[in-house]
Amino acid sequence: MRLPFFALTALALVLAAGAPARVARAAEPAPAIAFTFDDGLDPAAEPAAARWNAEILAALSRSGVKAMLFPAGRTGGTPGGLALTRAWGDSGHAIGNHTYSHRNLGSARMTVDEFGADVMRADSLFRVLPGFTPMLRFPYLKEGESAEKRDAFRAWMRAHGYRPAPVSVDASDWWYSTRWRELERAGRAADLPRLREAYVAHLWDRACYYDSLARAVLGRSPRHVLLLHTNAINAACVGDVIAHFRAHGWNVIAPAEAFADPLYASEPAAVPAGESIVWSHARVAGAKGLRYPAEDGEYEAPRLARLGL
Ligand SMILES: [Zn+2]
Repeated sequence: MRLPFFALTALALVLAAGAPARVARAAEPAPAIAFTFDDGLDPAAEPAAARWNAEILAALSRSGVKAMLFPAGRTGGTPGGLALTRAWGDSGHAIGNHTYSHRNLGSARMTVDEFGADVMRADSLFRVLPGFTPMLRFPYLKEGESAEKRDAFRAWMRAHGYRPAPVSVDASDWWYSTRWRELERAGRAADLPRLREAYVAHLWDRACYYDSLARAVLGRSPRHVLLLHTNAINAACVGDVIAHFRAHGWNVIAPAEAFADPLYASEPAAVPAGESIVWSHARVAGAKGLRYPAEDGEYEAPRLARLGL
């Protein structure tokens, strides 16, 4: 596949990085990013669930940020989990749908009908909550392993009044959160500030990567959507992450504002479908040297090992 002409032009500008490109960028509005959190928490499965949920909501409130939660029924829709999910709506955040069972639409064993029924099972739990918005975040960001299934499920969503909720920035925060908990359990609290610093730097690095990829492939900086999860590291660090983006001149915006960007209504023709929507467009455009976005551990483990973390 060849890159379309507009992409090549934008790519040439980025690669040249000369004075004219810098002047053009200086006149552009600041990049913008919205924070979204997947999964939700079940206190019956995770003893720290209520604390993490409260800490994330408190940090968002202190930072003056409105975010969006995409709970799965099996975690954020259990009797205890539903109360934690409702707290997001009560705090003015939006609530979407991440299916009930958190299964993979990209698996050949999963049918469109079965997946649709799982979306509706979660819908019946979350639709009554304040802030509910009929938007679907695909588990694992997988949207189908064939063009037929991808298109059949896009038609299912239209018929059921659902919009997809893609992400532009995929950064595997869960991988850092696992390390965070390992250090906590090992009694290495003294090392946590360095892991915090590395985590914030990692999210910032991934956002800059996807922003430059978008500028090259789309010819502009879209309103970004960041994928995070309701987990230990975000309970401890999300306030610092927000502060870091702001300190570097980015605006942190509400998810509804970000999802209004036409990028999120676009339907890249990638197969298998899914992943970051910027990455999908880059793949369809034939961009070379793309790293698989969901494998951060492979890249981050050596980096943390060098830091003794
Ligand atoms: Zn998930």
